[in-house]
Amino acid sequence: MSLDSFSLFYPKQMKIPPVLKDEDASAPLPNYALLINPFYPKDPYASFGKHVLTPSLALLSIAGATPSHWKVRYWDENLLQGSPPVDPFPAVVGVTVHLTFARRAFELADWHRERGAKVVLGGLHVQSCPEECEPHADALAIGEGVQLWPEILRDIEDGRLKKRYEGSYSAPYREELLPRRDVLHRGDFLTTASLIAARGCHNRCDFCYLSTRNFHQPFQQRDIEQVVSEFASLNEPYGVFTDNNLGSKPEYLRELCRQLRPLQKIWSAAVSVDAADDPSLIREMALAGCTGVFIGFESLNCENLAAAHKKSPRPDDFARRVRLFHEAGIQVNGSFVFGFDHDDPDVFARTVDWIEKNRLECATFHILTPYPGTPLFRRLESEGRLLHRNWDLYDTSHCVFLPKRLSPDQLEEGYRWCYKRLFSHRSIWRRRPSQLADAPGYMAMSYLYKRSNRLWTFLIRHRLTHAVWRPLIQAARWRHCRFRRYFEQSQIIPEGRRSDYKRRVST
Ligand code: SF4
Repeated sequence: MSLDSFSLFYPKQMKIPPVLKDEDASAPLPNYALLINPFYPKDPYASFGKHVLTPSLALLSIAGATPSHWKVRYWDENLLQGSPPVDPFPAVVGVTVHLTFARRAFELADWHRERGAKVVLGGLHVQSCPEECEPHADALAIGEGVQLWPEILRDIEDGRLKKRYEGSYSAPYREELLPRRDVLHRGDFLTTASLIAARGCHNRCDFCYLSTRNFHQPFQQRDIEQVVSEFASLNEPYGVFTDNNLGSKPEYLRELCRQLRPLQKIWSAAVSVDAADDPSLIREMALAGCTGVFIGFESLNCENLAAAHKKSPRPDDFARRVRLFHEAGIQVNGSFVFGFDHDDPDVFARTVDWIEKNRLECATFHILTPYPGTPLFRRLESEGRLLHRNWDLYDTSHCVFLPKRLSPDQLEEGYRWCYKRLFSHRSIWRRRPSQLADAPGYMAMSYLYKRSNRLWTFLIRHRLTHAVWRPLIQAARWRHCRFRRYFEQSQIIPEGRRSDYKRRVST
């Protein structure tokens, strides 16, 4: 396992957070709230570009729920613009806390509290480990933060802030106010059109954060008209659905596709592989502008999937399902997890061979990570297999437990080897689309995304992400519209090779 030609580039900005200046801030400005997404270290083996594809909706939704007599500002430390602004100094700071950047979130919280701001912490780590977060906050928002936020601000105005606020997910999803994208800088992301149609998941896999103890997020859908009109109102040709699984309810997805179709925009979404149960649904997705799906295959071993309680078609049917998406002109980005109990040292080469054989345009890899509060965490803890509780390393690129058939070093080395091979010239070339006309767009996207970490650092710092992606997105949209015209001319449902399909529509 060696790929020596891969040179690793890991600049300081991607490794360590910006310095918090040791200076006195001015007095907090009343009715001014600053929302912060803390810095997290980037994996130098993966693409730096993946962190600036779309903004996370969580804090934008909090911004949307901020009462109009409050000024609100959003600051994402991962956009390489330095530490959060201090002039004016905010009266209230909201910080999102996730496991891997909890340390940085606490540092930011303590720093702002020392200078007179009220700090509110929310996010998944607050849900799973509230005791750990409490010493760093004036208030914790546990659960659905968007509903809690206006109440928290009101209590701050009235001087009766409580230590804890607990939100349920009981209010109808359609009543939630729209996220505020005007707090973003247009140049920072490939697209600012992050969208969401439904939240929650009908599955409950042992390793997923959605299985965290006490986290009861029911499956909720927004009204389709609401989702479509939001996308239509955004001046973006490309949108990304951030749902855990847009295919959870196939009939909902089908109707959503029918209503998205007239927009003539392109989009991508995460769906489970069973979305391919019905090829006519894939056709609807393609006609509606879907150009890419992100699929959590997790493992090519059915014993691993069964042990994780992942409801999934059998892995020996995955290749046929990938083909169905390709026939509809939809690219497939697969997600794979390593370190399950049935994974042995061959798993890495086997997985990448499969990815290349089936020409997945992209893939992401993860080391199995037991998030606190999940069934996986409890099991590994009871078996004495947790190596430590240094949350900084619970980032899916480090091994934090004792695997069964691999050593921790083998697991980390295998994970890195997979990225090196996937990003190699040879692998990019082997996975090119079978239609020659689609190859240049694929190659341009692949090289920009996978082999340009030096460039990404520059683009992100100078807020050029959007400008650089835009021509590629326009070209993808143009290619898609051309392909869609073929599709519309016939009732053909993906089932054979795309060349067969083209032959049939042209006769
Ligand atoms: S299917 Fe995906 S989102 Fe749903 S519980 Fe499993 S891992 Fe989580």
